[in-house]
Amino acid sequence: MPSAPTPQSLPPAPIQVTKAYLPDKEKYKGYIDTIYESGWLTNNGPLVKQLEQRLQEYLGVKHLILVSNGTLALQVAYKALDLQGEVITTPFSFVATTSSLAWEGLTPIFADIDPNTLNMNPANIEPLITSRTSAILPVHVFGNPCEVEAIQQIAQRHNLKVIYDAAHAFGVQYKGESILNYGDISTLSFHATKLFHTIEGGALITNDDKVAARVRKLINFGIIGPDQIDGVGINAKMNEFQAAMGLCVLDEIQEIMTLRKHVWQRYRDTLQSEVQFQELNANGTQNYSYFPVVFKTEQQLLEVQGKLNQANIYPRRYFYPSLDNLDYLEAKQTCNVSRDIASRILCLPIFPALEQQQQNIIITIICEYLS
Ligand SMILES: *Cc1c(COP(=O)(O)O)cnc(C)c1O
Repeated sequence: MPSAPTPQSLPPAPIQVTKAYLPDKEKYKGYIDTIYESGWLTNNGPLVKQLEQRLQEYLGVKHLILVSNGTLALQVAYKALDLQGEVITTPFSFVATTSSLAWEGLTPIFADIDPNTLNMNPANIEPLITSRTSAILPVHVFGNPCEVEAIQQIAQRHNLKVIYDAAHAFGVQYKGESILNYGDISTLSFHATKLFHTIEGGALITNDDKVAARVRKLINFGIIGPDQIDGVGINAKMNEFQAAMGLCVLDEIQEIMTLRKHVWQRYRDTLQSEVQFQELNANGTQNYSYFPVVFKTEQQLLEVQGKLNQANIYPRRYFYPSLDNLDYLEAKQTCNVSRDIASRILCLPIFPALEQQQQNIIITIICEYLS
């Protein structure tokens, strides 16, 4: 008699570059119960307030304002600091870094990256500054802290604002304090694929009380009282269900990081003679959110990727293409370092549930192909 398909007879699930972390279900349900009891679903509810408080303490920052996603965090940051004209940014990032500028009518100007740290090279910033420049928007790529002092000095010399897209830098310390304390504003993304998540979500971080108050007004339509509206605002509010997820994940963040660290360390120990790693800032800590490897050639990358795909393993080409290739940009520029790195870099699967046996397959395929 033919038997019904059992889970064992299904092909093994593909291994993706990451896997969204789901916290304890009963705990999440507990928070959902409180939402049903209070009937308070959104608009700066008790769970959003609680999560803001806890994140400020956990990260060691003064003001953290939760929003509905990391892209809106960037857009609200530009408005809160009144950016105009041109913004100097990096071509080696997720597309939202650039598209958020274009969406707000700002012109992205690309400063090419350092081929080792993968961050914006501060030496490339000053030649790009014009009378139209209003800010610098670097990214702590894969959580690796930028050269924040050098960037700060340039900004001061030219009276520019600094916004860090810190979407990858949750929990990263620099010289003993949160990297998020640098710049006029830092932004985080809490998308499901990020180290810490609220399904969709994000945050703005600032030390400045006035900027924080402005951000709170902007994310709620510009409303400042029951019958008072002050300027153009938007809806960027986080809801209570998102905050509930964040509260649950935050309880488990230490364990998440430890499990990721094991995966990270195993790649680091076994692949060092085969591929190039990102050069890590000696003053920074790691959060183990990504594991990028740089191959000698794009051909080599494509062949290794093909072999991994055959084994049902799907690393991702982060970041590819380099953003100076985007067709909607007004100012055409070519960033050769970023294009070269983008053509040769692959992010390997890293997430808490990745089993050692699965990781061994990945390592073996890469080593066998390259040696
Ligand atoms: C994820 C990410 C964003 C966008 O965040 P969302 O929450 O997905 O909108 C922006 N910048 C970088 C560098 C990112 O990785």
